[in-house]
Amino acid sequence: MGVLVYTGKYTYSDTRSESTKKTVQVVQQLCEPFRGSHRTVYVDRFYSSVDLLKQLEDMQLYTTGTILSNRIPRSMTIAKSSREFKAMNRGDSVSHVLTYTTTKGERKQAGLVAWKDRNIVYCITNDTPTAPMDECKRRGQGGIVTIKRPQVITKYNRHMGGVDLADMRRLHCHSTIMGQNRWWLKLFFYLLDVGTSNALVLYNEAMNGKQEPYNIVDFKNKVVEALVGPVLVDDIPSDQSVAHCMTNISGAERQRCTYCSLKGKVARTRYMCKGCGVLYCCIGSGKTDKDCFASAHENEGIREICIRHYRMQQTNTRKDLLKKRR
Ligand SMILES: [Zn+2]
Ligand SMILES: [Zn+2]
Repeated sequence: MGVLVYTGKYTYSDTRSESTKKTVQVVQQLCEPFRGSHRTVYVDRFYSSVDLLKQLEDMQLYTTGTILSNRIPRSMTIAKSSREFKAMNRGDSVSHVLTYTTTKGERKQAGLVAWKDRNIVYCITNDTPTAPMDECKRRGQGGIVTIKRPQVITKYNRHMGGVDLADMRRLHCHSTIMGQNRWWLKLFFYLLDVGTSNALVLYNEAMNGKQEPYNIVDFKNKVVEALVGPVLVDDIPSDQSVAHCMTNISGAERQRCTYCSLKGKVARTRYMCKGCGVLYCCIGSGKTDKDCFASAHENEGIREICIRHYRMQQTNTRKDLLKKRR
C-alpha cells in the first residue's frame, strides 16, 4: 500500500508538467510501481477525471471510478431539477459512450453510466461494460426493497469497500487525536491505525474458520494485552433483554448523533437506541433522510465503536461541566 503525505506544492515529483492536475498527479505517483501491469485502478470521484483515465492509459493501467458531474460532458449529466431525473425510478440508469483522444493522439472510447440511487451516481470506466445489471438492497418505504444496479458500480463498491471499511475502523481512534495541531502525531496514529486494521484483516484470514473473526475493538484489546499484559476494559453490556429500537430522548433539546459525530459531522436527533443507549439519527428524525441507526447496527464492530464514542463524549461533557463550576 502506498501513502502520499501532502506537504505542500512539492508533494508531487517535479518531472511532471505543471499543467497536470494535482488530483491526477497524486494517483499517477501512487500507481508508478504498477506501470505496465494492465491492472485496474479504482478511484473515488474526488480523483477521477477523463484526464486521469488518459494518463493511466499511458501507463497501461485501466480506470474505473465514480466521477463528479462537472467533470463529464454536460450532455451526459442529469440535473436534479430536470424532467429526465423525475422520470427515472430508483435503480434506472443511462449508459453513454465517451470518446476521447489519448496523449498519443488515438481516438478511444470509455463507458459512462448515470445510475439513479437516491441521487444520480456517475461512473466512468475503460475496462468494464456499463450495460450489464445486477441488483442491490435499499431501505425504502415499507421496508427493504431491491433495486437494479449496473454491475460496474457493484464492482467499484466491492473494490472500494476495503477503503471505506478501513476508514470506519480507524474512526475508533479519531477522538484520541482530535483537536491537536501536531500533524506528526496524526500521521503516526493514522499509520498505526492503518497497520492495525491491515493486521486484523490478515489475522482473520489466517484464522479462517478456526475461530470467530475478531472485530477491531476485540483485536486492539488483544494486541494491547499481548504487549502490556491483561488490562481491565469496561465491558460493553450485551443486554439481550433490551431490544435495539429507537426511542425518544427525554428533554426538549435535540442532541448530537453519535454516528455522525464519529464521521466528523454535526447532526442533531431526538432519538436513541434503547439497546445501546446511544443517540442516532433515524429516518424521519430531522430534515435529512439519513439512517445512522441502521448503519450503526449493520456491523457489530461499528456498533461497539459508537457505544465507546458516546460514553467518551459523556465523560468529556461531565469534565467540562465540572471545570465550569470551579
Ligand atoms: Zn442498538
Ligand atoms: Zn446521524
